[in-house]
Amino acid sequence: METLINHLIQQGYLKTPLIIEAFRKIKREDFVLEDLKDEAALNVPLPIGWGQTISQPLTVAFMLELLQPEPGDKILDIGSGSGWQTAILAYIVNKGKVFGIERIPQLFKFGKSNVNKYSFIEKKIVSFICGDGSKGLKEEAPFDKIIVAAAAEKIPETWKEQLRIGGRLVMPIQSSIWLLIKKSPTDFVEQEFPGFAFVPLINDG
Ligand code: SAM
Repeated sequence: METLINHLIQQGYLKTPLIIEAFRKIKREDFVLEDLKDEAALNVPLPIGWGQTISQPLTVAFMLELLQPEPGDKILDIGSGSGWQTAILAYIVNKGKVFGIERIPQLFKFGKSNVNKYSFIEKKIVSFICGDGSKGLKEEAPFDKIIVAAAAEKIPETWKEQLRIGGRLVMPIQSSIWLLIKKSPTDFVEQEFPGFAFVPLINDG
């Protein structure tokens, strides 16, 4: 994994010291299926069952650098899957809070058991919710940051509403990653980064 992390640093994908530290401390091999552990350090998405994947390290690095998570942040992680990115965020927010939402019950359990290899759940830094994240998590809003791992067709208004002023939303729309920064309840600065591939966000209605 060290080789891959150094590669992501040299290529300019990983930049922020605390994000790099979190990539080093949270082992991707703790979040993949038993028979794929040898492949955990490859820069590719890997199957985690139920037609889903643990995200590609390059994509996670790119999205986290846009999100700029900081100690103390309250973050909503939509599509938590294996829990790898959730654990990286938990390491960074330290005494903050990360809410991971996953809609597939078996992956909700898989992610929770993987994150349990670290102490983030017992320290109440991470809470997992099994459900549809397309509506966000109203009862815990507003969030400092929201990050989404599955592609929507358009930006759901609820996520924009559940962000605090100054907060950042990083999400895929079709094959682009978008960064939104909330300037006022109705004003957002938006930037698009094309050229990525994501599983679809499923709206459970
Ligand atoms: N960061 C995760 C990881 O590295 O393991 C990403 C996993 S995968 C790329 C995206 C996840 O989003 C899948 O586990 C999928 O089930 C989940 N997902 C899709 N639509 C969702 C929704 N509406 N609410 C919650 N999770 C959703």
